[in-house]
Amino acid sequence: MSQFANYIGGQWVESDKLSRNVNPSNLDDVIGEFAQADAAQTHQAIAAARAAFPAWSQSTPQQRFDVLDRVGTVILERKAELGKLLAREEGKTLPEAIGEVGRAGQIFKFFAGETLRVGGEIVPSVRPGMTVEITREPLGVIGMITPWNFPIAIPAWKIAPALAYGNCVVIKPADLVPASTWELVRIIAEAGAPAGVINLVMGRGSVVGEILVESEGIDAISFTGSVATGRAIGAKCVQKGKKFQLEMGGKNPMVVLDDADLDVAVEACVNGSFYSTGQRCTASSRLIVTEGIHDRFVEAVKTRLSKIRVGDALDESTQIGPVVDERQLEQDERYIAIAREEGGTVFGGERVERATRGFFLAPALVTGTTPDMRINREEVFGPVASVIKVKDYNEALAVANDTEFGLSAGICTTSLKYANHFKRNVQAGMVMINTATAGVDYHVPFGGRKGSSYGPREQGSYAREFYTTVKTSYVFSGAI
Ligand code: NDP
Repeated sequence: MSQFANYIGGQWVESDKLSRNVNPSNLDDVIGEFAQADAAQTHQAIAAARAAFPAWSQSTPQQRFDVLDRVGTVILERKAELGKLLAREEGKTLPEAIGEVGRAGQIFKFFAGETLRVGGEIVPSVRPGMTVEITREPLGVIGMITPWNFPIAIPAWKIAPALAYGNCVVIKPADLVPASTWELVRIIAEAGAPAGVINLVMGRGSVVGEILVESEGIDAISFTGSVATGRAIGAKCVQKGKKFQLEMGGKNPMVVLDDADLDVAVEACVNGSFYSTGQRCTASSRLIVTEGIHDRFVEAVKTRLSKIRVGDALDESTQIGPVVDERQLEQDERYIAIAREEGGTVFGGERVERATRGFFLAPALVTGTTPDMRINREEVFGPVASVIKVKDYNEALAVANDTEFGLSAGICTTSLKYANHFKRNVQAGMVMINTATAGVDYHVPFGGRKGSSYGPREQGSYAREFYTTVKTSYVFSGAI
């Protein structure tokens, strides 16, 4: 059985405690045993990052460009192999996994370019003989805590900007899926990142994650995961006076209006709700459909779902892979049962047997639901979507906004009037017109509002808001 060590201060450091990474498509396939960092190793990683910070923060943009650019090149060259690993550990289909790896590679390429674009401003002072300079500096050591559903893209979209702007990193990936992040860290190390600039400490959030949040040696925390964990981390960061950024859950609405192109709407909803096994923070979990198109839409979605192939993530014919683990599968089933008890009608949603032992669940569409039901208020995080029938656009918009979340929102319509109004008035960080709520570009800001996000946006050049701090300098040149 292959064993994988933590990466601390430029060394691969083994640990007595190991955690098994199991393929959710085939429970007999163990990807490897991954070291669980203890408290001492986590503190060592933080100390190594602190020691590396002075030199890395003063490195030239060219040095950082070269490292990030090489990382991007290697990831893109190894896309197929890394995608296979990702599909094996997380369960998204091979094309989805290769797509995620490709995205990670492009993110490194983008942020290689960002090292050259930091710049600053020179502003005339209101006082004679004075000039004001506004510049950006790195924050220091960033602690990163990531979830299981994008095992390479989320670490990439945190690590790449952190390094680009001159910070050092200690990352703790989700315990369930450490392999893709492990490979990513190895690529960064081999691309020439100096010892201590990138550190990997695998293990439980309750051990490793808590130390990162509490440690005086960590200047800022970038977290993606559930609302409960995120809010607890945020509260601790406030107490410690640490900068933090939280990307959390969603209950994303997709509105389908009477005038929608039915094929476009069905494609957007099936993709947004069920692909990647619905395990995307941007998944469309509430389908809000006006009454004139409701029945035709529901029938068309059911027809599509009945033909969808659920199975082994590595099988070429599979369109929806397994649920990530037993705990998540039970959560999906619990919500399907609750929806039924509350009066919803469930299509699909049963466990599926395949040649291998795995966590296979047929996608579930719950019809006849109302906005107050739990299925429409709480994040399920699986291949489960509910349909809410509404009278008209105004009711659809009100229902779309009737949630504590605000990550992504979509509308399917052929009306420019409704599309524009929705774009302006829906309470979400990202809006999609005639396309799925999930699936975004890598060079533009990503994030939400309300209970979904806290702090500056991730990705694109907006990422610099989090990973840098602003300095205002006054230069008095005097009179000649
Ligand atoms: P969790 O909140 O359970 O875990 C996220 C990370 O936090 C894991 O690495 C976990 O460690 C760690 N953690 C757990 N407890 C603590 C603690 N006390 N202190 C510090 N770290 C801790 O989320 P999931 O992994 O289950 O991910 C699913 C969630 O992520 C969903 O709610 C989803 O919406 C959200 N998400 C949001 C995205 C966004 O950008 N808005 C993108 C993707 C997902 P451990 O490995 O031990 O569990």
